[in-house]
Amino acid sequence: MKIGGLQRVSLIDYQGFICAVVFSEGCNFRCPYCHNPELVDPCLFRTCIKENDVIEFLNTRKGKLDAVSITGGEPTIQPHLTAFIRQVKKMGFAVKMDTNGSHPQIIKNLLSEELLDFIAMDVKAPMDRYKDVIKAQVNTDFIKESISLILKAKIPYEFRTTIVQSQLDENDILEIARLLPKANSYILQKFMPTKTLDNKFLKEKSWPDEKLQNIKTILENEISSVTIR
Ligand code: SF4
Repeated sequence: MKIGGLQRVSLIDYQGFICAVVFSEGCNFRCPYCHNPELVDPCLFRTCIKENDVIEFLNTRKGKLDAVSITGGEPTIQPHLTAFIRQVKKMGFAVKMDTNGSHPQIIKNLLSEELLDFIAMDVKAPMDRYKDVIKAQVNTDFIKESISLILKAKIPYEFRTTIVQSQLDENDILEIARLLPKANSYILQKFMPTKTLDNKFLKEKSWPDEKLQNIKTILENEISSVTIR
């Protein structure tokens, strides 16, 4: 695993759990609003933290932390992800993983080996607009396959969409929601212009609160839990 960062303790990354957060380095998408550019743009990469050092640290946290949250970057592009998670699970930690859904085969293997306790997937845009929003090539059949695997998974999950006003309108969100039939958790993430992969996006905004509330109410007809975060 290329590990670009380690947060030793977090109370907010995995609801209900005290966790460490492992940030994998590298991503196959280039979302301009990404708030972790140092994990996405190779020019900004720093010296990686050794996987063994992370494992050693976690060994000292047994009984103090409940879980490990693996985020990025995009964890599923890491060749040693599965082996890393196996070690973390052996230590007794619950594992949450964030993903952009571009590698369904990895998700499928992790689910079938029961290596995940929670999965959060970003659904970035309606399928025909995906490339425009993430600014990279993508196989949208893979995105749809990941959605389907997660909907069928026997673990808690959430789907999330980052709302940037210039990128997505209400119809886009309704179209995304149609890809998530009977999902039980969908997060509308307000874009915050704090740090972005594309500096031009520092001038972008999310939707006004009222517009977010309106779409939430509409989505709640189909999705049992819709959260604005
Ligand atoms: S937002 Fe996620 S998927 Fe997009 S570039 Fe950043 S890490 Fe990659």
